[in-house]
Amino acid sequence: MKLFHSWLNPKLEVRTDTCGQAGLFAQESLWKGEKLAVFGGHVMLISEAPQLGTGDDYALQIDEQFVLGTRHGHEIEGTDFFNHSCSPNAGFDGTITLVAMRAIAQDEKITFDYAMCLHASRWRQTPYRRKCSCGAQKCRGFVTEDDWRNPELQHRYKGYFSGYIQKKIEKKG
Ligand SMILES: [Zn+2]
Repeated sequence: MKLFHSWLNPKLEVRTDTCGQAGLFAQESLWKGEKLAVFGGHVMLISEAPQLGTGDDYALQIDEQFVLGTRHGHEIEGTDFFNHSCSPNAGFDGTITLVAMRAIAQDEKITFDYAMCLHASRWRQTPYRRKCSCGAQKCRGFVTEDDWRNPELQHRYKGYFSGYIQKKIEKKG
């Protein structure tokens, strides 16, 4: 899988899982805190990324108003294949860097919780709300732009939310 704007840890590769969904997997073990990806792309207004919240989207929200993505469909890259899980093994260090939240074994799928980076935006055409079928015991059933407000998730992912959301959480606390 090519890279255009982002960095992906070479220990990761895109594989198709048992459900036929493409995701990123560890080719060898990873240590806690290891950098997994640094997301790049075109900085776009959320209103410029109409696919957000509807079908497949490959954009990463980095602010209430902005996403990192690609204006060109042919620039889909390896870092676009991180799947959501309600029981993730990766989280953010800052706003564009993804790190391992714990040691990760060879062949494990790498996931983060989209609650870590999704935030409501008045520039989004429709609120982000998707059914989740991640299979985790603690699956919430839906992924929404307000999940970061959940106190249990705030506790579980402390320090692993995208920088702009982590700041909001800490201001309240
Ligand atoms: Zn889930």
